[in-house]
Amino acid sequence: MSDKIYDVLVIGGGPGGYVAAIRAAQLGLATACVDQWKNAKGKTVYGGTCLNVGCIPSKALLESSYNVVRAQEHFAAHGINTGTVKVDLSVMQKRKEKIVDTLVTGISGLFKKNKVDALSGTASLKSIGDICEVTIAGGETVRAKNVIIATGSVSRNVAAAAVDGKNIVDNIGALNFSSVPKKLGIIGAGVIGLELGSVWRRLGSEVHILEALPNFLEAADKDIATEAAKIFKKQGLQIETGAMVTNAKSTAKGVAVEWDKDGKKEKATFDKLILAIGRVPYTEGLNAEGVGLEIENGRLKVDEHCRTSHRNVFAIGDVVRGPMLAHKAEDEGSLVAELIAGQKPEIEYDNIPWVIYTHPEIAWVGKTEQQLTAAGVNYRKGAFPFIANGRARGLGETEGMVKMLADAESDRILGVHILGAGASDLIAEGALAMEMVCASEDVARTCHAHPTLAEAFREAALAVDGRAIHI
Ligand code: FAD
Ligand code: NAD
Repeated sequence: MSDKIYDVLVIGGGPGGYVAAIRAAQLGLATACVDQWKNAKGKTVYGGTCLNVGCIPSKALLESSYNVVRAQEHFAAHGINTGTVKVDLSVMQKRKEKIVDTLVTGISGLFKKNKVDALSGTASLKSIGDICEVTIAGGETVRAKNVIIATGSVSRNVAAAAVDGKNIVDNIGALNFSSVPKKLGIIGAGVIGLELGSVWRRLGSEVHILEALPNFLEAADKDIATEAAKIFKKQGLQIETGAMVTNAKSTAKGVAVEWDKDGKKEKATFDKLILAIGRVPYTEGLNAEGVGLEIENGRLKVDEHCRTSHRNVFAIGDVVRGPMLAHKAEDEGSLVAELIAGQKPEIEYDNIPWVIYTHPEIAWVGKTEQQLTAAGVNYRKGAFPFIANGRARGLGETEGMVKMLADAESDRILGVHILGAGASDLIAEGALAMEMVCASEDVARTCHAHPTLAEAFREAALAVDGRAIHI
């Protein structure tokens, strides 16, 4: 065991862990980050699920596949004739891999720049006290005054559809198909089902999504979910709600899938099946319970500042309560590093935005209309459709709307919901407005550049008071 005692040891180098490590080092704390992730060449890489098999590769494929749609369906309206569009999937996949490689290399560079010691291997908690000891498989025992656990999550499995990595795949396999499946089944019409379903649909798959819940996209505002369902149907995504998969088996012809729907048994055969029914926290090999850390609903139990029952052991990101989102993990990483350095940071969890990167995109922050109704909150609402926005017309992106919900008495913004091109960027204005405790009137009185999609945001704020100009 080395004599060195770190101020902070971060276990897991995903967006929670690597941000925690960099922020801790910025604050002058002696920091190390350990990860067990190896790339195809057997090299340890930092970036976790997000960079390697999540946010980044999925968005690379979403962009490439949407370019196919642009070329096939939209260019002609601009007077650009491409003829038959040919897709080389191997080039598309290589582009995706290059983006991932560049970004994970970038994290190693940031560790060097900030003097974070990058360690490699599976970390296991050995003892917790004023000085914590962590064993790294194949390496030595590391000592630290504070430990931040950021071990993330993995895809949820179900016995009825066991992932074989070949025909029945999770997010990892679904990002790596080497040919476009003719018939693609997906279990779960959540974020991954919609995003990866969109990718393969655009590239030519016949996509059938089986969703257990009776309603589509229950977490989203109902108006947005209803409108999105119509658009996705037009795009050819077959989404079947109330469908509970009972069995899925690889056969010589593909994957035979059976499900129950309205008391009836249904079945179909697909070339590939993606399992996308949520993710579960990952603590394998960590020995968390062995050193007395509590697990609550499968996740490491922490307080509002991500502190476990041990004063100098913290946990952040997907492995703890809250939404499993990269930006939530990042914010918790900074928060814990700043706490350890003696600062007093806070996170307003209600202001964490959600984005689904379909086309059009879906994004929201704050409460939905159905949540406000259920809570008995008196609210006013304003909505503005992109079809009435000049920039959206120029872009040929007229689907969807911005919807704003504000408290009826104080006018404080309670929720913003967007369906439309660029929703992922536009929602930042909603998150900022909510973090600054703005009233809808504040947004309505803020000059927005013309012509921009953001004007639809302002018009929705004006509509809260019944005074939108362009509808
Ligand atoms: P992770 O990113 O999972 O990182 C955990 C790290 O810990 C891993 O590198 C792992 O190797 C390491 N580790 C685990 N145990 C040990 C151990 N004992 N010792 C050493 N190392 C260990 N979120 C968004 O916000 N936007 C998106 O667009 C988005 N798209 C996604 C698309 C897909 C297909 C998927 C699957 C997820 C997506 N997510 C997205 C979710 C996002 O990836 C996660 O919320 C985020 O990665 C969580 O970060 P984390 O740091 O908590 O954990
Ligand atoms: P999800 O929770 O978004 O969706 C899972 C869906 O599967 C739900 O609609 C659920 O009702 C359904 N389901 C559950 N069990 C089922 C069953 N047996 N049969 C049929 N349907 C079933 O989960 P996901 O799509 O797997 O994504 C996991 C998480 O990863 C997300 O919740 C999110 O936190 C993160 N993620 C985020 C993004 C993003 O931010 N754009 C993208 C991808 C993933």
